[in-house]
Amino acid sequence: DAGGNVRVVVRVRAFLPREIARSAQCLIRMDPLSQRTTLVAPGDGDADPANARARARKATVEDKSFTFDNSFWSHDTDDEHYATQEDVYDSLGEEFLDHNFEGYHTCIFAYGQTGSGKSYSMMGTADQPGLIPRTCQDLFERIAAAHDETPNISYNVRVSYFEVYNEHVRDLLAAPPAPSQAPYYLKIRESPTEGPYVKDLTDVPVRSLDEILRHMRKGDQSRTTASTKMNDTSSRSHAVFTIMLKQIHHDLDTDETTERSSRIRLVDLAGSERAKSTEATGQRLREGSNINRSLTTLGRVIAALADPKKTPSKKGPGSSSVVPYRDSILTWLLKDSLGGNSKTAMIACIAPSDYDETLSTLRYADQAKRIRTRAVVNQDSIS
Ligand code: ADP
Ligand code: MG
Repeated sequence: DAGGNVRVVVRVRAFLPREIARSAQCLIRMDPLSQRTTLVAPGDGDADPANARARARKATVEDKSFTFDNSFWSHDTDDEHYATQEDVYDSLGEEFLDHNFEGYHTCIFAYGQTGSGKSYSMMGTADQPGLIPRTCQDLFERIAAAHDETPNISYNVRVSYFEVYNEHVRDLLAAPPAPSQAPYYLKIRESPTEGPYVKDLTDVPVRSLDEILRHMRKGDQSRTTASTKMNDTSSRSHAVFTIMLKQIHHDLDTDETTERSSRIRLVDLAGSERAKSTEATGQRLREGSNINRSLTTLGRVIAALADPKKTPSKKGPGSSSVVPYRDSILTWLLKDSLGGNSKTAMIACIAPSDYDETLSTLRYADQAKRIRTRAVVNQDSIS
């Protein structure tokens, strides 16, 4: 089937030591049967400073419920419904990799405030690998199995990794510039067939799990190093890990060769709380407006795609509405993943005890559910 809605899942993490230290209350309930997530209004017993503003507006603060494709409970390991990294991969990552082998482009992006578990869900830790390393592992296991079962198909895998910070694209797989050199930023181009792409982005062929994981770690390291130098940019930057899978099928009977190409995009977005710092004034406004342009534009793109009729159109009533993809680097590059040829999923990551931020993330996710994309099998006959 061609059309489908963006798949939206939500995941709540465990308390961090700082939350335990301030006796934070868990404001999230999840019903494993209905996949319903409820955000509970902080009560009188809640002394958490994070919820001071929410408690002060008591009259307007109430329990809010949302239904998603999955509600992942990763709050306490003792719970029988605790969702592990493996559970998240099994119910989302594996199916998306199936689609890649069928020839579809996919995109999974993690959204949420800083500290909500985006990087944990996408990258994970050495002991608890997330979606990216699990996808890489499964990919090479499937290729190894296919080698014996379908020897007339050959596989070609390439990987790239970049980040968008302050409306600049930085190649995470390129050698870093010498300390005396200015950082090197890449430009965006748009091709009529492939859509927007990063010009001169490093795009390396990989033949094994070890190789791809080595590039993944190298890119992650480059991201971390820059972030330590520049005052935690990682919470303000968007990281895009892309795997290109090519399957070349040679039909021995007809001597025909066909090629299926699919793109696997895994995105760790900047912290969503930054989008609101544009409400600040002066220097922070100027800094914020640029640093956050990609995230605020993403919000506008999602709103336009979710409610096409509400969005004003330049061509007047009845014509298709204008989605502001080109207003930011990130939305321009993710154009296809958000509203075009891709099967797409969003992981809304939430902290257990922050009413205002969590409500804003859940509303965002609720809107994303209404977006429809049109994925097609990317297959060409090459002889
Ligand atoms: P973000 O990338 O959204 O800023 P992180 O992924 O870095 O947040 O998570 C913040 C902290 O919470 C990290 O120490 C991380 O290991 C931990 N964490 C997040 N999600 C989980 C989870 N599901 N289970 C255990 N620890 C988690
Ligand atoms: Mg992170």
